[in-house]
Amino acid sequence: MVGIVIVSHSKQLALGVQELAMQMVQGTVALAIAAGIADPDHPLGTDPIQVQEAIASVFSDDGVLVLMDLGSALMSAEMALEFLPEAQRQKIHLCAAPLVEGAIAAVVAAAAGRNIHQVIAEAQGALIAKASQLGIDINANGHVTNPQPPANKEIRLTINNRFGLHARPAARFVGTSARFGAQIWVQNLTTGSSPVRGDSINQVATLGVRQGHEIAISATGNDADAALAALQALITNNFGEDDTIIPPPLVKNTVTPQSPSELSGIAASPGVAIAPIVHYQPSILTPTQYHVDDVETEWQRLQNAIQAAKQEIETLFSHASVQIGDAEAAIFDAHLLFLADPVLLEAVHHRISEEQINAETAWQLVVDEVASRYRTLEDAYLQERVDDVIDVGQRVLRLLTGTVGTVLDLQEPAILVATDLTPSDTVGLDPKKILGICTTSGSSTSHSAIIARTLGIPAVLGMDVQVLQVEDGTLMGLDGEIGRAWVEPEADILELLETKRQAWQTAQLSAKAKAQQPAITLDNRQVSVFANIGSIADVQAALSNGAEGVGLLRTEFLYLGRTSPPTEEEQLAVYQAIAQVLEQRPLIIRTLDVGGDKPLPYLRPQLIEANPFLGCRGIRFCLHHVELFKTQLRAILRASVGQNIKIMLPMIATVGEVKAAKAILSQVQSELCQADIPIAEAISLGIMIEVPAAVAMADQLAAEVDFFSIGTNDLSQYVMAGDRTNPQVTNLVDAMHPAVLRMVQQTVQAAHQAGIWVGLCGELAADPLATPILLGLGLDELSVNPPAIPTLKQSISQLSVVASEAIAIMALQQESVEQVKAIVSH
Ligand code: PEP
Ligand code: MG
Repeated sequence: MVGIVIVSHSKQLALGVQELAMQMVQGTVALAIAAGIADPDHPLGTDPIQVQEAIASVFSDDGVLVLMDLGSALMSAEMALEFLPEAQRQKIHLCAAPLVEGAIAAVVAAAAGRNIHQVIAEAQGALIAKASQLGIDINANGHVTNPQPPANKEIRLTINNRFGLHARPAARFVGTSARFGAQIWVQNLTTGSSPVRGDSINQVATLGVRQGHEIAISATGNDADAALAALQALITNNFGEDDTIIPPPLVKNTVTPQSPSELSGIAASPGVAIAPIVHYQPSILTPTQYHVDDVETEWQRLQNAIQAAKQEIETLFSHASVQIGDAEAAIFDAHLLFLADPVLLEAVHHRISEEQINAETAWQLVVDEVASRYRTLEDAYLQERVDDVIDVGQRVLRLLTGTVGTVLDLQEPAILVATDLTPSDTVGLDPKKILGICTTSGSSTSHSAIIARTLGIPAVLGMDVQVLQVEDGTLMGLDGEIGRAWVEPEADILELLETKRQAWQTAQLSAKAKAQQPAITLDNRQVSVFANIGSIADVQAALSNGAEGVGLLRTEFLYLGRTSPPTEEEQLAVYQAIAQVLEQRPLIIRTLDVGGDKPLPYLRPQLIEANPFLGCRGIRFCLHHVELFKTQLRAILRASVGQNIKIMLPMIATVGEVKAAKAILSQVQSELCQADIPIAEAISLGIMIEVPAAVAMADQLAAEVDFFSIGTNDLSQYVMAGDRTNPQVTNLVDAMHPAVLRMVQQTVQAAHQAGIWVGLCGELAADPLATPILLGLGLDELSVNPPAIPTLKQSISQLSVVASEAIAIMALQQESVEQVKAIVSH
C-alpha cells in the first residue's frame, strides 16, 4: 500500500491533518508526519532528517507520497530525498497538492489499494470539489476551464428520475445534445455548479445532479430552440427510465467477525463458493513521460488507439448483450461515449501540443483528472463510475503501448481475489472456472457487481484488505448472500458452508433443469424457445439456459473489430463450430444486417445517409454488394452439410428483394455444385418481418419462403415512425403498442394460412409481460437472449392458450401501451 508523509512547519497543524485524514480510513494507511523543529523557543520549521525518517517509517515498494505545506518544507523534502539510496528515491513522489484536501484524498485512495500514480492524481484533483462548490471550474492543474459563450436561450427543469443524472441518463443527455449544431451548456442550480458542456459525458455525469435538483440548460446556435425542446422532452420523459426498478438493497455486513480468519464485506452476488483462492492483479499501465517533437504524429497515434479501442468495445458489447442481456451490456455504450467526449479529447490534444509530451502520458493525465472528478462526487452511485473511466483509460493505454492485457488462465476452479475488477474483466469471466469473487473495493451498484449477479457468480466486494495478504492456493469459503468469507475455515464452519452450497447448487440446477424441459402450456401447446446469439462463446450459454436452437445468429459480430470483411473460410469455421455445439438443433443464420444502428465504416466509407434507418441497410446493402453477399452464402451453404442450418434475410420490404436474393442463392448453389464442393441438398430460407410493407405483403411473401421471424425492434420503429435509438421517442417506440401487436397478429395469420411457421426474435419476446399476448397471437417460436430463457419457459408453462388468446384479443383492442400493460399486469 502507498505510504503518506506530511511535512509541515507546525507540528500542531500536521497532527491535525493526520487526525482528520486517518479518521477517514480508520487508521488503515501508513501515514507519518515530519513537522516542527526541536527548538522550544522557535518550534516552527522543517528538518530534512525528520523528513527522511518519516519516509523510511512508511516506505514500501508501492511508493510514498510526500505532501508539504509551504516554502522551506519543500526544500527539506527535496534534501531528504538526497539522503536516500537511488532505488528508494525513485519511489518517493513530492506532490504539489493542497495539504489538507490532498492528504484526505490521498489516504482514501491509498486505503482503496490504488497505485502511487492514482494516489497522486487523487491528491492533485482534491481541490476540484471545493472549487466547483464555489462556482469556479478548474482542472487538476488549477487551470480555469470551460469558457462559456453567451447563451441565447435557457430553460430550467427539475430532474425527477430516481438516481438523477447518473451514467445512462447522462449518456442520453449527451447523445441528444450531440445531435444538434447548437452549443449546449448545463448547470446544476441546486448545488450552484458552474455550467459545463452538454456534449461531454464526463462533465455532465460529474455535475452531481440528483433527484429533485434543478438544472439550467442553455443553448446557442441556429437550432437552439429545437435542441432545448428535445432535451426538455427527454427530461420530462424521465430519460425513458422505468423508476420502479430499484437495485437490490445490498448493505455492508456489520456483524463483527467471529475469528481472525473471518472477513467481511458487501454482499454483492448471492451463492456459496468453497475453493482455493487465486490473486488476480491486472497489470495497471503507468506511462513514462517523454518529450516529442512531432506532435501531429503523436496525436494521430492516439486517434488510432482510440479507434481500435472503439472496435474492441463494440465487439465486447455484442458479446455482453448475449451473455448478460441488452440492458446490462449498455455499460459498454457509456464506454464508447467516453471515447467520443470532445472535452476529454480537447484536453489530451492540448497537452500533447502545448506540453509536447507523449500521447500515453497526456492521455493518462487527463483520464486521471476525470477519475478524480468522479471520486469527489457525493453520490455513491456516481462515484462507482470511476471503474468505467479506469477501464476505458487502460484499454486505450494498452493499445497505445502495444501491451497485451492480463489473461486469467486457470487450470482449476478458484475464488478470485483482487483489489478491483473492471467491467471488462468481469464480463470475460467463466463461471465454471471462477466460483467466487472477492475484491477489496467496489460496491453493490458497481457494474462489476451487476455483471457478477447476472453471471450467477457469488461475490463479496469491499472486503477487508487483509484478504490481499492471503497466499495463492489457500482454501476459502465465501458466502455472497451475507457478505462474508473464511480463510482456511474450521471444520464446523466448512460443514455449514458446504451444506448451504449444496442447497444453493441444487436450487440452481433445478432451475436450469426445468429450463431444459420443453415449454408446454397448461393446455398442452408447445412453443419453441430459441436463443439470439452473437458469437461462438454464446452457444454454450444458450444451451445451458435451455435453448432448443438458435433463432437468430447476428452475423455482424464477424464483421466487427476489423478493417476488412471476413473471408469465406473464416466464416465457414465459425458457422461449423456453432452448428457442431448445437448437435442438430436448428441454427438460423441471419445474413449481414449492416447499416442503420449497425454501421461498419470499412464497408461503407463514403456513404453518408441523412436517414440511415431508411437507407441502404440489411438485404438492400447485400443486393448492392453481391460479391460480399455471395461469400457469406457460400460459407453458410458449405457449413450446412449434415447440419440443421437455415438462412434468414433481414429488412425485407418487397417480394422483389426475396426473389433477387433467392436467385443469388441458387446461383451460389449451382457454382458450388459445379465445383464439387459439398453442400446440403436443401436449405430452409426465411425472412425477418420488420418493415410494415412486409406485414402488408405477408401473404405473398409467405409463398416465397419457409418461415418468418418477426423483428419487433425494427418493426416498432417503422410502425410508429420513431427512431429506436432516439431517447425522445422511447415511449412511442414500444413494441407493446397495439399498433405493433396488430402487425404481429396480421403476420402470424398470413404465415399460418400459407402453412409456414412464424417466430419472433425482437426484445419483446424477452419481456415477461408480453408472453401471454404472444402466446395468444399464436407464435410458434420465440427467440431471446440466453439469460431470459428460463423465465420465459417458466411463464409459458404457467399459461394456457385459451386464456392467452382472450388476453391477446383484449390487448389488440386497447388504445395505448399503458392500457395493454395494465391488462397483462393483472
Ligand atoms: C429486430 O429488429 O427485432 C431484430 C431482432 O433485429 P436487430 O435487433 O438485430 O435489428
Ligand atoms: Mg432488426
